[in-house]
Amino acid sequence: MLRIYAVVAIERLASDNPDGRLNLVLIHGMDTRILIRQRPCSDRLFRIADHAAEALLRAASSGAICVYEVVSPFTSPRQLDSHRLILAIAKGDSFAYDGHDMSRTGNDKERVSSRRQTELAVLQLIQREPAISRVELAHRLGLSTANITGVVGALVEKNFLVEEMSAAKVVGRRRISLTMHPDLGNVVGVDIGTFNLRIAVTDLNGKLLGYREEATEMWRGREAVLSRCFQLIDETLASSSIPVSKVLGIGVAFSGVIDVAEGMVLSYPRLGHAEQWKNVPLKKLVEDYFGIPCLLEDSARAVATTERFLGAGQNFQDFVYVDAGMGIGASIFIGGSIYRGFNGSAGEFGHMTVDENGPLCLCGNNGCLEAMASSATIIESVRRALSKGVISKTLEMANNQMDRISIEIIARAAEENDSLAYRVLSEAASHIGASAADLVNLLNPEAIIFGGALFRAAPVLLLDQIRRVVRQRAMEKSVNDVQLLSSPLGTNAGAVGAARLTAAAMIDTIHHRRGAEAAIPTMPQPAVPAG
Ligand SMILES: [Zn+2]
Repeated sequence: MLRIYAVVAIERLASDNPDGRLNLVLIHGMDTRILIRQRPCSDRLFRIADHAAEALLRAASSGAICVYEVVSPFTSPRQLDSHRLILAIAKGDSFAYDGHDMSRTGNDKERVSSRRQTELAVLQLIQREPAISRVELAHRLGLSTANITGVVGALVEKNFLVEEMSAAKVVGRRRISLTMHPDLGNVVGVDIGTFNLRIAVTDLNGKLLGYREEATEMWRGREAVLSRCFQLIDETLASSSIPVSKVLGIGVAFSGVIDVAEGMVLSYPRLGHAEQWKNVPLKKLVEDYFGIPCLLEDSARAVATTERFLGAGQNFQDFVYVDAGMGIGASIFIGGSIYRGFNGSAGEFGHMTVDENGPLCLCGNNGCLEAMASSATIIESVRRALSKGVISKTLEMANNQMDRISIEIIARAAEENDSLAYRVLSEAASHIGASAADLVNLLNPEAIIFGGALFRAAPVLLLDQIRRVVRQRAMEKSVNDVQLLSSPLGTNAGAVGAARLTAAAMIDTIHHRRGAEAAIPTMPQPAVPAG
């Protein structure tokens, strides 16, 4: 009996899915079909995979092929052992086959192109996980070690990759790991925050080569802020001795409401700045100034990307990263990839309602979490109490200047048992805890990781209280296993994350540009066997 096992499509639209995503369609037998979506999978991609299966089915019925097993980077080796392989990598609206018996199903053009796709998959994986070994690469991409050795050898020869002897010995042998060639180019990550402007310059492996941080001075208005930002990018590059011509892309993280596809800042719900930052084509402004591609991303997602690859999120596939500072946002990771929602606005954790009759939020609603627990709210509560005559160390710590009271000062006072500071922080933590319990009930995540200025200031106090509230309020089955952690990352996480997202988005372009002589620029349509 002819059996077709599986067709796998891998979505790697770098800018909107830097982590890659596994989508699986299982087809078994000539007549019966079992379609399984193993992971979150878009309808479009599902159709592509289905289309691929159709082509394989036709090939099988013409007697050209008997057994196909198509595998993905994430299929376990146990499943691979018993069958020969065909790798189908779907990208965009087209895909190619690779593997044995190509002569019966494809032509030379498809073979070359699929080699290009395999190279690209290798580069993307190495960029995401620098220092990955060959064995691990082969395992993850579902290819033989011999096959990987061939592909990697070609990539080393073309100066895409370098081999490095890693310092650690594994079972008595030094391990050779692979990283992106440092000469491929650099990327810039920019984090335009309410208070601080941060610029990071990295190579494609994410190695930090230059970093600058200074006050944003939002009060000076949008044009002044952007003009200083562009100047600071130039200065950071100059002090890192990296010419602008070596910069492949600039990633900008912004904490307003963002349209990633259009590269627009739609709004910036911060008191006094909302008008200045309405419908700003930030991506275009950066591209016009530098003549370099720009990627605009929500700052909570940029930070979350750093958390996922370098921080506490490294060990989790399904987790939520909560970023709390002047605003509160969240990034939801499902199967290791960020969940963006239907039109990209998922994760507005700060605007979940805590109290219908609560204080007015900058978004226009009442009683949002952000209006009850952000750093801005906490600082405001302390100031209000002080102006009513409540005694607190915070005023003295701020040299008796009310406008100098910061979240760091409040955290320090709370540590010294200042009752006002402790009470205000503890109330905020209770509200965050109640909303986090909702997340636990709704998503059953492995972990919730808390980061941002608020958690950098008072991680222990806040997390103790949040743990208590989540344990009280969330359903037992989910709460038993969920880990509530604070982020180990520093203030550069947003800029580093923006650089990382940009590097991931540039891999395809670099490979296409540099490998042009060996590759075919357009992908063939799904292969239909001749005859
Ligand atoms: Zn709100």
